[in-house]
Amino acid sequence: MIAARPNAHDEHPASADVIDACIAALTNKSGQIRAGAVVADAEFVQFHPTALDVGLEPAPLASEALRGEGALLINSDGRRFMRDVAPEAELAPRDIVARAVFAEIEAGRRVFLDCRQAIGAHFPDAFPTVYAHCKAAGIDPVTEPIPVAPAEHYHMGGIATDTRARTSVAGLWAVGEVASTGLHGANRLASNSLLEAVVFAARAADDIAQVVGDGRGVAQAALYRVAGAKPVDHAAREDAIALIRDTMSADVGVVRTRRSLTRALLTLREIADTAGNDTQLANMALAARLVTGSALLRTESRGGHYRRDYPDPDPSKAQRSFVTLDELEALECRIASATMAQTSETWLAMDAEVACAP
Ligand SMILES: Cc1cc2nc3c(=O)[nH]c(=O)nc-3n(C[C@H](O)[C@H](O)[C@H](O)COP(=O)(O)OP(=O)(O)OC[C@H]3O[C@@H](n4cnc5c(N)ncnc54)[C@H](O)[C@@H]3O)c2cc1C
Repeated sequence: MIAARPNAHDEHPASADVIDACIAALTNKSGQIRAGAVVADAEFVQFHPTALDVGLEPAPLASEALRGEGALLINSDGRRFMRDVAPEAELAPRDIVARAVFAEIEAGRRVFLDCRQAIGAHFPDAFPTVYAHCKAAGIDPVTEPIPVAPAEHYHMGGIATDTRARTSVAGLWAVGEVASTGLHGANRLASNSLLEAVVFAARAADDIAQVVGDGRGVAQAALYRVAGAKPVDHAAREDAIALIRDTMSADVGVVRTRRSLTRALLTLREIADTAGNDTQLANMALAARLVTGSALLRTESRGGHYRRDYPDPDPSKAQRSFVTLDELEALECRIASATMAQTSETWLAMDAEVACAP
């Protein structure tokens, strides 16, 4: 882990690989990470508290505007549980509502968004998209409560960038959800992501124009294609993707612990090691490993990151996290050997090490 990185653009003048890197910035995170880019705040994932729990993939959202209009969260016993959790009840911040909904589900109860009183017959006109999703799932929100559950929604973490959208890799800019500017802190406020993308896209464009100029004399870039580059075993891929998703949901979700994160990291590393030719699968596993490793290293709870074993914010850790692929792999090696040794001394030493990480 490191606290700050020099900006590589200042060390290396613009070169032919500038265009290569621009194109890489349009692809996914993992290509950039393999190029050595520093990743920031990967542990901070925002969960939407009320995705429709009707078995659809991806799960459509029951907009927060519904709660804004007065819709209530009730459990399968009919109890309005948010009043016990926060003074703002249903209008508490996203992470608090998501954890409360998760706790109900963990306790074996289903959760519903009850719009019958607050919105009732206006539902189809006021919320046509959510209404259409509900009707497609056989639910009439005018007369029935909507089953809901938390779902992964936004990643505050990503490729670390400065205020010009430059990454730590010379000639590589990153904009949008792939980037981590630090603007969202540990928990994005709704709609700030699109605003950030607009602002930083303009900044990146200005900066690229200054660095690259008119592009004359710059070599033609070779495109890096992930999908279809090499033959893959599709059945094995589907199984592995399902395992990544199950692992992230069960062990790196709304509530995390050292044990769940360690288990997840070992599973994800195994998937990466057996991905073979399948770069797309290896990239999915890598993105998941970065979230998991960073979550393991942050021994506190803050924003979208909640550790049951460290439930409070630690003022000494009120700073961004930064990690590279090399550092992630070093952490994985330590965990793998500690797991193999299975001695309490090793685990205690690892706990101390994790707790000391900046
Ligand atoms: C349901 C939902 C509702 C939201 N509502 C809001 C909202 O109201 N307000 C708000 O501000 N934000 C909202 N967000 C968040 C916001 O939509 C995203 O942060 C934003 O769209 C990210 O834009 P992006 O261009 O960075 O990434 P994306 O929109 O994810 O675009 C990335 C593109 O890259 C492509 N790609 C990926 N890998 C590769 C590859 N290897 N090669 C080539 N192409 C590749 C993908 O296919 C995709 O087209 C919402 C998100 C969700 C999921």
